[in-house]
Amino acid sequence: MTTEHPKLNLERSEAAMAAALKVIPGGVNSPVRAFKAVGGTPPFIATAKGSRITDIDGNNYIDYVGSWGPLILGHAHPNVVAEVARVAAMGLSFGAPTTAETRLAERICQAMPSIERLRLVNSGTEATMSAIRLARAATGRDLVIKFAGCYHGHVDSLLALAGSGALTLGRPSSPGVPANVTANTLVARYNDIEALEGVCRQRGSEIAAIIVEPVAGNMGVVPPQPGFLQGLRQLCDSCGAILIFDEVMTGFRVAWGGAQSLYDVRPDLTTLGKIVGGGMPVGAYGGRAELMSQVSPEGPVYQAGTLSGNPLSVACGLATLEVLSAPGSYQELEKRSARLAAGLAAAFARGGLDVYSTRVGSMLCSFFSQLPVVDNDSAGLCDTGLYGRFFHGMLSRGIYLAPSQFEAMFVSLAHSDQDIDKTIEAAEATVAELQEEQ
Ligand code: PLP
Repeated sequence: MTTEHPKLNLERSEAAMAAALKVIPGGVNSPVRAFKAVGGTPPFIATAKGSRITDIDGNNYIDYVGSWGPLILGHAHPNVVAEVARVAAMGLSFGAPTTAETRLAERICQAMPSIERLRLVNSGTEATMSAIRLARAATGRDLVIKFAGCYHGHVDSLLALAGSGALTLGRPSSPGVPANVTANTLVARYNDIEALEGVCRQRGSEIAAIIVEPVAGNMGVVPPQPGFLQGLRQLCDSCGAILIFDEVMTGFRVAWGGAQSLYDVRPDLTTLGKIVGGGMPVGAYGGRAELMSQVSPEGPVYQAGTLSGNPLSVACGLATLEVLSAPGSYQELEKRSARLAAGLAAAFARGGLDVYSTRVGSMLCSFFSQLPVVDNDSAGLCDTGLYGRFFHGMLSRGIYLAPSQFEAMFVSLAHSDQDIDKTIEAAEATVAELQEEQ
């Protein structure tokens, strides 16, 4: 834990935090923004454009948080802003169907063939909550399997902690979640298919769904090991459970068709968010037509939303996907992300720091650990204090990373070669500073 680098003036942010703390718990509307994992005061952001964000003290940073994933084009892309402004002038919300919702749904279905029909909701949390409900309804079963270290939003039944062991009964990870809600959640070890085989043999007929981040992005970035996702597909097929890929983060991020196209595994249901809203509140869940036909009003599974399919969110998502669909977008993201990852790894190696690096497309992570990170237990071995010092060294040099070891670094199409060079230089300087401190 450390304080900000002396070079960074955050006077106004400090005052803003003091004011916020009086009226907002922790001063923030989502916990990780409070910098509890790295210490110090979060810069309050005033404006953003392209790869850059500027705080209310006038500090300018190259941003690798990208609003936690949605901003794959960078901030305030002119096409996206123009489209949202155009649509806003025609009415903010109708609570009635619009043709744009169908266009967004069509676009998503084309990109991800496992999604034959989908429902738009307002957040990733709503998407996973609704997908779980649908899976339970469709199977007539209650049990859900999730993986330790995977995050699916703050859905009661998924706020479940693992016990010690490869597969355990979930315990509530937050007060307010009844134990009898997580009693229907089993928590398994990511990348460990063997433990699941046993439970599928014993309790297969009780399992409604297995939900997984096909590339885990909420314990750092942990790629699936070869065969893991395929194994989940086979287990679900053998016990008649629904396989849910939570692609809220990976959808349109690791590939146009999401992680399911990258690893060639077809889930029954997929949840989306982030990029499909381009920075406005959106979520979506979809899958096989026959499953989705069970959703109200076509079927009995209730799910609704006052602002679902909101015109501004839909316009923002459509405009974002339009720009992103240009030929070469993913090659460009891959090229820049690979160069950044190589530069960072070289900086850590030169400075003699033990860092285990992972990357899937434009999702990167530098784990401050000597050992490979393949699951939540190995992620837990990271030196989070050292990450905090690295984080603040980077922030003071104008590089805005996630304020937690266990988050991804997102590269966007707005990150230029110069941005990447500057980031690598900042990493070199920060690593040298850390070495001096030791
Ligand atoms: N699923 C995944 C994989 C996520 O990364 C997140 C949020 O980060 C969610 C679900 C929840 O989405 P939201 O924060 O929009 O509710």
